[in-house]
Amino acid sequence: MRIFIRSSEGLSSVDVEESTRISELIEQNLFWGGRALREEMTISECGISEYSTLEALDELLGGKKKKKKKAYTTPKKKAHKKKKVKLAVLNLYKVDKSSKVTRTRRVCEKCGPGTFMAKHANRHYCGKCHATVLNKA
Ligand SMILES: [Zn+2]
Repeated sequence: MRIFIRSSEGLSSVDVEESTRISELIEQNLFWGGRALREEMTISECGISEYSTLEALDELLGGKKKKKKKAYTTPKKKAHKKKKVKLAVLNLYKVDKSSKVTRTRRVCEKCGPGTFMAKHANRHYCGKCHATVLNKA
């Protein structure tokens, strides 16, 4: 059968048998289908079929074939960013109809008034002293 070998000299066609070994080909450093062909393997062992084109690479001086850049299939995750909320402090207080101010956040017992604790689903957390208070029931 006939196969093609592409080298720096150009494309050439070679007649081979299925039992022809890679080492019997004139060109060295043969690649096919993205892999290097081992010299001791035969044409059929390599799965080479008629009219396949092998690539003959010139021996590179002190260099290997450049690795293909890894392709990422999933988009890069965005790092968590603190959301900037304008006048976020307003969420900490509530003013009712009689102008009475109530604090909507729990005050940290350790740090005293003025230090509010973050409200989580089941707990309060003080960012100042790292105290966590679990919600009762
Ligand atoms: Zn605290």
